[in-house]
Amino acid sequence: MTERQSNGGNGAAGPVDVDVAVVGAGFAGMYMLHRLRGFGFSVRVLEAGGGVGGTWYWNRYPGARCDVESMQYSYQFSDALQQDWEWSERYAPQPEILRYAEHVADRFDLRRDIRFETTVTAARFDEDGRRWTVETDAGGTLTARYLVMATGCLSAPNTPTFKGLDDFAGRRFHTGYWPPAGVDFTGRRVGVIGTGSSAVQSIPLIAEQAAHLHVFQRTPNYAVPAHNAPLDPEDVRRVKADYAGLRARARAMPPAFDYVFNPRSALEVSDDERRRVYEARWADGGLGFMGAFGDLLLDEAANETAAAFVRGKIREIVRDPAVAQRLSPDNVIGCKRLCVDTGYYATYNRSNVTLVDVGETPIDRITATGLAVAGRAYEFDDLVLATGFDAMTGALLRIDIAGRGGRRLQDKWHGGPRTYLGLAIAGFPNLFTITGPGSPSVLTNMLPSIEQHVEWIADCLVHQRDRGHDVIEAETAAEDAWVQHVNDTADLSLRSTCSSWYVGANVPGKPRVFMPYIGGFPTYVDKCDTVAANGYEGFALA
Ligand code: FAD
Ligand code: NAP
Repeated sequence: MTERQSNGGNGAAGPVDVDVAVVGAGFAGMYMLHRLRGFGFSVRVLEAGGGVGGTWYWNRYPGARCDVESMQYSYQFSDALQQDWEWSERYAPQPEILRYAEHVADRFDLRRDIRFETTVTAARFDEDGRRWTVETDAGGTLTARYLVMATGCLSAPNTPTFKGLDDFAGRRFHTGYWPPAGVDFTGRRVGVIGTGSSAVQSIPLIAEQAAHLHVFQRTPNYAVPAHNAPLDPEDVRRVKADYAGLRARARAMPPAFDYVFNPRSALEVSDDERRRVYEARWADGGLGFMGAFGDLLLDEAANETAAAFVRGKIREIVRDPAVAQRLSPDNVIGCKRLCVDTGYYATYNRSNVTLVDVGETPIDRITATGLAVAGRAYEFDDLVLATGFDAMTGALLRIDIAGRGGRRLQDKWHGGPRTYLGLAIAGFPNLFTITGPGSPSVLTNMLPSIEQHVEWIADCLVHQRDRGHDVIEAETAAEDAWVQHVNDTADLSLRSTCSSWYVGANVPGKPRVFMPYIGGFPTYVDKCDTVAANGYEGFALA
């Protein structure tokens, strides 16, 4: 399979009408189903894939694992679940996270309301009937009072339109739809395009198998070591003895995971002290590196101290100074999503790995036997596209969604996404997005963010039902004010200053808008709670 596509599987059963249609059966769609069922709503989930798990169903490339610690990257809505489930490693590998999703589906009997291998192609709001009509590639129609898009922020793979891509005669893979049976690279010549998180995780393992690996790098990325290891049973016991405490501490942190945040400025300490702090964070590993000082994402000079430290580490690890130089980013660390690696930089010391810069001179074309860049041909048997996703808006805009007056979401978002709280869209009544653009989503541990959205939406639907309302719609003024706030907040952070997927820069032609809300999880939750407490302020209810 070279594209994410369903087989028009088991969704074709005649007309169906439910209270709520949910698109997607990743962690968001699964919990949405469970939560709504608990309140007595009828729900149907439509999922393109053949099973639950979303991200963890599709991204089966070698080395795929979470980069938020597993004890935190997991549901907290059921204490029995979090007590029963045993994570094996600090950062669980993809097969284990998928097993966890499958366990949740079994445990809460979710599958009976999910139609797999069913891709939603279109949805339109019928203003007279006050219902959504949902079309799928499986045929049949589904109508629902409410439509919840649990379609994921990183679920629409980005395949650049390289000239000659279809000419390639070897095997071609995208990390975002990896064959379930796995891929054996033993003895093969492999080319990987991309050096983001997916590439950083997979390259060391592909290199171990391949006869030769060429990595084509457009922009180098910062990576900090994972120091992944089996979990210590004593640590697990300690966490489980007060799981609620850990969860509460996590929810109080802007990225919604618990870590040690040092509020001091990187510029107010001596060089020795700063070095000591960075060394300790490096030894600890993981995304907590960016918590070394309070101003790393606010002040360029402070940020440069961390960036320089990591560049120094790259020079220490990579033996060839020219390769080390090519691997060293010169931009703000943490501006693009920080990568968490296991042996990434050291992989470039292997004699069977070659780093090719395609930043200054882009790839000319893909050929039958490899690719050409700067007039030079590189030959390989297998091509791996680790080229990421049309993030945050891609999955939504690949569906033809029409709201009030037949207005299409593609048109409304022509200049970039506009939402109220990343949860609702003016002109699209009874439609909700889970971790939509304008919510903290990808800047946080996604599981707490998903749970918060699911619970807010479920409470909102109960509120609607209790008051006999059947339409809810974000008001344009509230949406405008929220979009302004999201933009103003983004401008305060160095994160908005580079060509990342956060701003849509990885997809040619995509409007440049900083899409997630950078104000942090606690501030955002307060805002959502206040809106609800004030009778869904900023929404028109009918
Ligand atoms: P997804 O898991 O993306 O699920 C969305 C589902 O919707 C998919 O199954 C998709 O098939 C389905 N869908 C989309 N469009 C349609 C359609 N038109 N019709 C039918 N079905 C559709 N986040 C973290 O916080 N920590 C991590 O460590 C982390 N690691 C990650 C690693 C990788 C490789 C990737 C890609 C992302 C990672 N993320 C991580 C982000 C991750 O996406 C979220 O943590 C979380 O899994 C998202 O769950 P979701 O249900 O919102 O979306
Ligand atoms: P990504 O970060 O967007 O990386 C894509 C890579 O492909 C980049 O190096 C990009 O270069 C390159 N690329 C894109 N188009 C190209 C072109 N036309 N020519 C050459 N190179 C091109 O995607 P990702 O690695 O899949 O990660 C996406 C996000 O998913 C992550 O940021 C993270 O949030 C999540 N994720 C997490 C983990 C984890 O550790 N748990 C693992 C994987 C993914 P440029 O940088 O120049 O655009």
